[in-house]
Amino acid sequence: MSTKTAARAAELTVDRANEVERILGLRREFEEVVAASEANVGDDEHDPEGSTIAYERTQIGALIEQAERHLTEIDAALQRIADGGYGRCEVCGEAIPEERLQARPTARTCIAHAGAILR
Ligand SMILES: [Zn+2]
Repeated sequence: MSTKTAARAAELTVDRANEVERILGLRREFEEVVAASEANVGDDEHDPEGSTIAYERTQIGALIEQAERHLTEIDAALQRIADGGYGRCEVCGEAIPEERLQARPTARTCIAHAGAILR
């Protein structure tokens, strides 16, 4: 493993820990909002508080999803580092430019093929 790849792996490991932490925090927040909305049952349906809570639930839910997706990408990148395939485009096999990996360490393709495996 090159020094650069080792540094990237260390970076991704830190990112991963942060992401796990973030997901835990968001889940806790989500539970609090759910608990608050349950405590609200029986109140006036048109209570503006109720719609705020529903909105918050949706927002937090979306953030959790996003963080989980990022976590999956980080894990996949770490796996590619372990396999030795990291930094190569999955479509054409060319090396992914360093600047791209810097901006997006979980990138699986070169810029030309970035759209090829978009979700
Ligand atoms: Zn490519």
